Amino acid sequence: MTVITRFPPSPTGMMHIGNARTALFNYLYARHNDGKFVIRIEDTDRARHSDEAVDVIIDSLNWLGLDFDNTPTSQYANKDRHIEVAQELLTEGKAYKCYCSPEELQEMRDSMKSEGRIVAYNNKWRDKNDSDAPADTPYVIRIKSPLDGHSVVPDSVQGDVKVENKQLDDMIILRSDGTPTYMLAVVVDDYDMGISHVIRGDDHLNNTFRQNVIYDAMGWDKPTYAHLPMILGDGGGKLSKRHGAVSVDEFKQAGYLPEAVNNYLLRLGWGHGDDEIISIEQAIKLFDFKGITKSAAKFDYTKLESLNAHYIVEADNQRLLDLLTPFLKSEIDVELNETTASRLLNGMNGIKERAKTLVQLAHEARLYCTDITEYDDKAQKQLNTDSAIIFKGLLENLKTLSDFNHDPLEALCRDTATALADDKLGKVMMPLRAALTGTDKSPALFEAMEVLGKDETLIRIQNAIDFIEKS
Ligand code: GLU
Repeated sequence: MTVITRFPPSPTGMMHIGNARTALFNYLYARHNDGKFVIRIEDTDRARHSDEAVDVIIDSLNWLGLDFDNTPTSQYANKDRHIEVAQELLTEGKAYKCYCSPEELQEMRDSMKSEGRIVAYNNKWRDKNDSDAPADTPYVIRIKSPLDGHSVVPDSVQGDVKVENKQLDDMIILRSDGTPTYMLAVVVDDYDMGISHVIRGDDHLNNTFRQNVIYDAMGWDKPTYAHLPMILGDGGGKLSKRHGAVSVDEFKQAGYLPEAVNNYLLRLGWGHGDDEIISIEQAIKLFDFKGITKSAAKFDYTKLESLNAHYIVEADNQRLLDLLTPFLKSEIDVELNETTASRLLNGMNGIKERAKTLVQLAHEARLYCTDITEYDDKAQKQLNTDSAIIFKGLLENLKTLSDFNHDPLEALCRDTATALADDKLGKVMMPLRAALTGTDKSPALFEAMEVLGKDETLIRIQNAIDFIEKS
């Protein structure tokens, strides 16, 4: 059997991180089994539909690197086929026309509620003949659900899940305006697309029992189901905006790398021993239903951040530079030129260890891509008449240094400390850090000087002297 999994998002204008995990698991299961992973846009809500909302989903999948094997299909475009199936069920007596008005249905529900019964359609039109039909009255088509016994969904994550058939009333498959319902459309599309495995959130488990009524009525083989536990926020409720970023795009904007997001989402609902760092390639090799956790998991932003820090260190520097470019603009208002780009590339190893997100990395990158003429409060504390004397000594020594590399730079700073700062290296390095970076924190300074190069280092020291002399 060819494994075909699907991701059928409703385009809402954003891709929730929970949906991204569903997409990831479908992708991994398909790739693990040399199968196919297909996309279907569930766009039947025409009032809210927009092409931009579809683009958001495709962009999110592309950013995560979850490549799919079809041109995304539109559920709405398949409407005639859904109607055809409803008609077929009607013709075969497996579905029927129901002429109840909305008011009548409301009365039915109210009286059931007041009698303490399960609120359900009372099957009024289930066994009536066409001759009973009122003239010129709109009708819906309902499918006949089993009246007694129970149904079982053999779920690959939850095991056998059972429900009393009494709870499944005769649901509507075609509305009175002739449009198919979501329940019908999903089943028909899944069947027509040859979906072998339906992997989705366990909030759909109730739907599965209802959808299976349609499979049975059509005599179609059901897919294998795997219902994934929910992702929760801190307090235990659904993960929402108040917890932080929730959409794929928000995580991207917050400076996360796609491989970190994928790794985190994978671990948030699937495990392989104690492995924490799992690349997508390894995940494809290892992914199975056995590893899926049965209970809901809490989204832990700190854990995601530490995975992101790991992947930033692992990332190729040129790629990081490319990813960083928009963040340099938005965070520190810098556009790179040839000099600053190559400097930043050379300094990347030193700064990437200090950043957990691309936002932080942009701030770390400042020392390599802006002029330093302004100093924060902490830096200013280091800039005084004593340090001006040290700076002047340093300038003299540095000018004559031909080998502008880590070890000779260190030796030179030590000599300067011996001559001008009671042999205390810190008394040279702290003001020097302030002069070179404009602040009190930086990557290892000799390495930074090497990356800045002689000319830029001398300029920055001179700027600091000018600043001291002016103030
Ligand atoms: N369109 C549904 C959603 O976005 C998915 C339904 C399904 O997986 O069957 O939740």
